[in-house]
Amino acid sequence: MFKKILIANRGEIALRIIRTCKEMGIKTVAVHSEVDRDSLPVIFADEAVCIGPALSSQSYLKIPNILSAAAITGAEAIHPGYGFLAENADFSEICAESGIKFIGPSPDAIRKMGNKAFAKETMKKVGVPVVPGSDGVVKDVDEAKRIAAEIGYPVILKASAGGGGKGMRIVWKENEIEKAFQTAGNEANSAFSNADLYMEKYIENPHHIEIQVMGDSFGNIYHYGERDCSIQRRHQKLIEESPSPFINNEVREKMGQAAILGAKSVNYEGAGTVEFLVDKHMNFYFIEMNTRIQVEHPVTEMVNNLDLIKNQILVAAGLEVANKPTTPRGHAIEFRINAEDPDANFRPSPGAIEFLHFPGGFGVRIDSHIYNDYVIPPNYDSLIAKMIVWGTDRLHAIKRARRALDEFKVEGIKTTIPFHQKVLQNEKFLKGEFDTSFIDQHFKTN
Ligand code: ADP
Repeated sequence: MFKKILIANRGEIALRIIRTCKEMGIKTVAVHSEVDRDSLPVIFADEAVCIGPALSSQSYLKIPNILSAAAITGAEAIHPGYGFLAENADFSEICAESGIKFIGPSPDAIRKMGNKAFAKETMKKVGVPVVPGSDGVVKDVDEAKRIAAEIGYPVILKASAGGGGKGMRIVWKENEIEKAFQTAGNEANSAFSNADLYMEKYIENPHHIEIQVMGDSFGNIYHYGERDCSIQRRHQKLIEESPSPFINNEVREKMGQAAILGAKSVNYEGAGTVEFLVDKHMNFYFIEMNTRIQVEHPVTEMVNNLDLIKNQILVAAGLEVANKPTTPRGHAIEFRINAEDPDANFRPSPGAIEFLHFPGGFGVRIDSHIYNDYVIPPNYDSLIAKMIVWGTDRLHAIKRARRALDEFKVEGIKTTIPFHQKVLQNEKFLKGEFDTSFIDQHFKTN
């Protein structure tokens, strides 16, 4: 087993990884930018190394600085968390060349699944249903028009290198396609330095349901059921839960087997998520695979009673997946607490936390790096805490979430807590009758 792991990330996920390392008796190294000097991962890690200024491109994305920090501290492995370098195949390869274990899949698996247009081809070949669309990248507007006419409007243009809902445009009719092609391409270029777009049929009012998988170097690949992430704003997830209130056991098992088939086709090792859109008839279509741990992984941990980060570390060290799937128990829901003002179009609300009180009690889990007097820097994403509740069934989890959110106090900044409280009063949400259009339909957020 590794003696020391460097965490190439920040915020709640860095702390989340440190916690598991401590429980496993592994020493930790936090790397941080200048503005993150006083953050909890830096305080709780055994060692900390400053790797540059606030700008991510000069710190959390700067590969030579991270590798130097690993060399100075003698870290044998790097956990990339999510975001930043987590799905960067070059980084995973450079780590291997430098004799440092990258805690994640092989560069080859990241390359095959990381490019979304390419991943769809891979899945199609092994018989997993994919959303109808272009075969790979769409070259220009003329090609876009031709393919759209073939598959039928509405269509959606998406960034090949995409993530976080960026570089996506829905196109309802042909005269809108030229403008959409340009704006999506520009957005993709500025966000991912890659303007490549691909096209899909736009599935109206789908459910976003994803399968957690875990593979090891012995060729074992398991799935741990689904997470329903249909509560989204601008294609970004806000609430996730497991099990999904929408699908039945038969579809659940089919989706699980499809996810395993896809992961096997690239000899997948480590934790991964296979994402699907599910239409109102419960037909499911692969959209992408995330080759890393995801923000919403605790939901799966709570119903399966396992530690996914621990399994990632064991697998990276050449051991078998420790926790084989068992029957999930109860219901878990995660609420993303963002430093954003839900009454002002979810505008970021960084700054000093003047008073903080976390909820507690049975069945409530908080994954967060904030504390009293902590100053949230404006430079990074706005996620400041995840509140995960567990209940014996969905209604129990909802009641627990209501009482826990009432106890959750953050002063000095605006947060998404009041928004979640409103969702928890919504009749449709309570009945489990929602899809990705839920927020647009029930909340004025603009
Ligand atoms: P990203 O990697 O940017 O998160 P995804 O491909 O995972 O992008 O899609 C994010 C969300 O965008 C989905 O959960 C869904 O709400 C919406 N979406 C993506 N593709 C389609 C599609 N073909 N039809 C309808 N909605 C879509």
